[in-house]
Amino acid sequence: MKPVIELAGKKVLVVGLARTGIATALFCAERGAHVTATEGRPEVEIAETAAKLRAAGVTLELGGHRPETFGRQDLIVSSPGVAPTMPALAAARAIGVPVWSEIELAWRFLRGRLICITGSNGKTTTTSLIGHILETAKMPVQVAGNIGTPLISRVDVSSDSSFTVVEASSFQLESISTFRPDIAVLLNVTPDHLDRHGSTEAYGAAKARMFENQMAQDAAIINADDAVAPQYAPAEPRVFWFSRTKRVASGCYLRGDEIVFRCDGVESVLADRKMIGLRGSHNIENVLAAATAARLAGAAPAAIAEGVRTFAGVEHRIEYVATISGVEYFNDSKATNVDATLKALDAFSGNVLVILGGKDKGSDYKILRKALRSHARMALLIGSAADKIEAELAGVVPVERANTLEGAVEIASRRALPGDTVLLAPACASFDQFENYEHRGRVFKQLVRDLEKKHAA
Ligand code: ADP
Repeated sequence: MKPVIELAGKKVLVVGLARTGIATALFCAERGAHVTATEGRPEVEIAETAAKLRAAGVTLELGGHRPETFGRQDLIVSSPGVAPTMPALAAARAIGVPVWSEIELAWRFLRGRLICITGSNGKTTTTSLIGHILETAKMPVQVAGNIGTPLISRVDVSSDSSFTVVEASSFQLESISTFRPDIAVLLNVTPDHLDRHGSTEAYGAAKARMFENQMAQDAAIINADDAVAPQYAPAEPRVFWFSRTKRVASGCYLRGDEIVFRCDGVESVLADRKMIGLRGSHNIENVLAAATAARLAGAAPAAIAEGVRTFAGVEHRIEYVATISGVEYFNDSKATNVDATLKALDAFSGNVLVILGGKDKGSDYKILRKALRSHARMALLIGSAADKIEAELAGVVPVERANTLEGAVEIASRRALPGDTVLLAPACASFDQFENYEHRGRVFKQLVRDLEKKHAA
């Protein structure tokens, strides 16, 4: 049984008005709560949103947060971008006001079964793949969370028989209270967002909160090959492992090319590695995780095989763009941290001209040295992190400063030889030069297509 929550008549403060905050404010207002929403940006920057929320009866406090408002609430729902250490939030918490993330609120209203995916890398790919497999199995499924549609927007379309597959970030998981997935997948824990969480331990612990309310009938799925994730294996739910390298007691592993599911000592073959259309060994891990979750959700092995075979991947994740004069171009703009860039480099046998740089997140680029030596011919540097990256990669591969993405594509196209690969996998955030990684990826693809046209002419 879920804890009941009555929103009618309650004072609810929504902090942060991006997509999730807007959806949350509207959800609470529709259910009769007295909603206030606060946002750092001024009204002129979010005029349309402001008008929509006011029309729904939401009171707005824009252009900054008023600390006195926080203490007067029955509930505060903070957006993923808002740090829980924000003084006004901490003060409200100290006097007993519950501070939740949107997934906590959504979960209390959601019907049906919930599959939650977290990890440093691979969340979107694995979430989409689970959604795709369950759809292939003709099971009623919806995909939500970080991936695009906030979970709260999917509440009304959930039903007792539906499966909701939600991608959750550490930011969302660190402010849960009773959130309890039926199936919880932890892909990996590698240093990321240290600017926000402070340490890898705090970051891992935030992700592992996903398991904390699970019960004996629930399942936790964890990457047995990850250096850090296994330490978060919970005691309560049943743990299923996935591994590319070894047989597991329960869960999925590779036996030669076969993807084998093992449960209570009984093994069944779910799919074959050769069916996987995605590049890179990290994607084998994503497939193993997704196959385990889908099997536990009740998908038949044949549907899992078909789902794995027909999954085309997700935009901006080692996405093939074009071949020009024998050079292949790949867009991995989503590689916003060093580990993702490592995985992307590993997905190619060699001769990669890799575009690195953007906004630094306090990362250690020296970690890339070995992979660059074995897979890359040169690195092209863009954005504000270029100085730091150049210093940390000195002497490893030839480096050229391109400053802009346009410059990088131009230089790469001149330097690349037939058989080479030009890969955008920047290991950095995009916000110094782009709106977000999607924007960066789209610009890259456009530049490549322009180049293709020029060559065709
Ligand atoms: P997330 O949603 O966690 O950011 P994505 O599926 O969007 O994950 O992939 C993000 C990036 O991480 C991509 O650039 C991809 O190359 C890389 N990646 C995908 N899956 C994994 C994995 N299992 N381990 C490490 N890196 C991965």
